[in-house]
Amino acid sequence: MVDLSELDFKPKPIDRDFLSKPDEYPVNGEHVGHAIRAQGQERLDNEGKPYPTKLGIHGTEVGVDWDCCIADGGCLDVCPTQVYEWALNPGQIGTGNDRKIEKGSEEWNIYRTDKTDMVREKDCIFCMACEVVCPVQAIKITPP
Ligand code: SF4
Repeated sequence: MVDLSELDFKPKPIDRDFLSKPDEYPVNGEHVGHAIRAQGQERLDNEGKPYPTKLGIHGTEVGVDWDCCIADGGCLDVCPTQVYEWALNPGQIGTGNDRKIEKGSEEWNIYRTDKTDMVREKDCIFCMACEVVCPVQAIKITPP
């Protein structure tokens, strides 16, 4: 878990309607088999300031706002089908196994924190456990 006081942004909950707003969240990227929306676009945090990152929303049925995600790890702990891995620590799951990022490093400039990565999005059984446990509401699960 990243200490929020160490971060220079205020996580804003994911837009729960992002799938119905293609103008605001166009699909403009792909990452290990899932779509990315609004990658590279400036978006605002919960204080109305521009996020320092422009990572966008990863996934479709399993949507995670990577600009909001703070590497809490609860979602990786509770998922019964291991949909998630750490993006910067591939193959690793669970709280505390995120890659720690040094302030001011190249990775810091891009990511700020590790991110939860829905590498097995198709295995989601829509139990909603990850959405409920996320402390910053970065996740929106949309059953088909
Ligand atoms: S809704 Fe359930 S199965 Fe789907 S990613 Fe979240 S925890 Fe895993």
